Amino acid sequence: MWANQVAVVTGGSRGIGRAIALLLASRGAAVCVTYTERADAAEYVATEIRASGGRVMVVCADVTDVASVQATIEQTETELGPVTILVNNAGVLYQATLDTVDCNKFDSMRRVNADGIVHTTRAVMASMRAGRYGRIINITSVAAIGSTLAGNAFYAATKAEALILTRRFAMELGSHGITVNAVAPGFIRTDMTRGRIHGQPWDSIEKHVRERTILGRIGEPDDVANAVAFLAAPEAGWLTAQMLVVDGGRMDYLGSG
Ligand code: NDP
Repeated sequence: MWANQVAVVTGGSRGIGRAIALLLASRGAAVCVTYTERADAAEYVATEIRASGGRVMVVCADVTDVASVQATIEQTETELGPVTILVNNAGVLYQATLDTVDCNKFDSMRRVNADGIVHTTRAVMASMRAGRYGRIINITSVAAIGSTLAGNAFYAATKAEALILTRRFAMELGSHGITVNAVAPGFIRTDMTRGRIHGQPWDSIEKHVRERTILGRIGEPDDVANAVAFLAAPEAGWLTAQMLVVDGGRMDYLGSG
């Protein structure tokens, strides 16, 4: 059944998106990998997929740009077929506190993390409705539900928006056979986190998170990809408006110690 699947993975060039693109391709989906700056990284993902016999295309597409998103979906449908899986993975992290926040940067972040989901979903929904089938998975974050790493209030707000959009879009699209779910990763080892969280050195952040995680380690991109593949599967057709938390059992949530 996966052989008929066509997936778009926004921000599939690196980190979590890369792992998702590789896993969906290994299941048999044709994959469109998007990026904005790192063409080299996106091409490398495509090379890996092709080497395993998969079908893949690479597109430079900024999720904040409606025309760019629309063109990407049209190109995907022309080259690979109707999109059946959309993974809204592209995201950025801008860390700030009430004292330091630059509202323009906050706005730029939410245009990627929240508005981007609106643009891509609108771009795929016509053909998903026509096919009476779709799997949309939005990557939110445990930040959206109150994890406590410092400096993430504004990022958390964008991810909470992603979560409520997931649930409301599930309501709007469910009668057309389209499921819309969210995956909320905990702390995952990627360029985003390696870029340092709130100015702390990596070792101390990793130790901080590890000590607050039941399974005693931070996450890897594949941990998240597995959850996405579960929700993207044809068999997951009676599962919608849900959020799957993939955090190794984090114990530091606001209001719960
Ligand atoms: P990375 O920074 O490693 O990768 C980000 C990806 O998003 C890159 O592929 C990048 O493209 C792409 N991207 C950035 N801006 C845009 C844009 N405007 N339009 C399209 N693509 C864009 O991030 P992660 O892999 O860590 O994160 C992936 C998702 O998971 C994000 O939504 C993030 O918020 C979320 N998340 C991450 C966690 C973590 O601990 N890492 C925890 C919880 C959630 P390019 O390569 O061209 O720069």
